Amino acid sequence: MMLTTHALVGALLAVPVAFVAPEYAPAALVAGFVGGSFPDLDVLARHRRTLHFPRYYGFAAAAVVPAVLAYPSAVTVAAFFFLAAAWAHSVADIAGGGPEPRPWEARSNRAVYDHFAGRWYAPRRWVRYDGAPEDLAIAVVVALPVAYVAPLVFLYAVAAALVVSAAYTVFRKRVVPVAERVETVSLVDD
Ligand SMILES: [Zn+2]
Repeated sequence: MMLTTHALVGALLAVPVAFVAPEYAPAALVAGFVGGSFPDLDVLARHRRTLHFPRYYGFAAAAVVPAVLAYPSAVTVAAFFFLAAAWAHSVADIAGGGPEPRPWEARSNRAVYDHFAGRWYAPRRWVRYDGAPEDLAIAVVVALPVAYVAPLVFLYAVAAALVVSAAYTVFRKRVVPVAERVETVSLVDD
């Protein structure tokens, strides 16, 4: 899925905070948005492996829960939502296509690396590829509740994410040359 979809899904996780503890909602939304983006920084290393942890982010988020309950603060809340969003990203990538330059050709059998089991999850392709129309649809649907609770400043980030998502969806199949360069870099160690 697109980076922007992951970022919005990360922010979506934080939406309930706006109703339960609104004073922490800004920190939670930003942390979810950033945490949802974070794993894809490994596009310049071993993509879908170096910073994608479909198990460990979940364990880490669970480990932070007692700290959130004992010492609720912007810092502990943000730490939880950063880790939860990174975990959601890592798991969601299994539902998409592979990290290949033309994922709509569905040639890759690698979606996300499972460091615990030492093997790759295969792509499910429920979202066929990043930038597919269904990917954009998810971004739009997810953005609605986020926008509903978001402070004004954060609304700009949501709007920017949607604009970028729409442009990426339109031009996805024309950015293959760029993606191929990235792929070359990311597969150096494989
Ligand atoms: Zn990813």
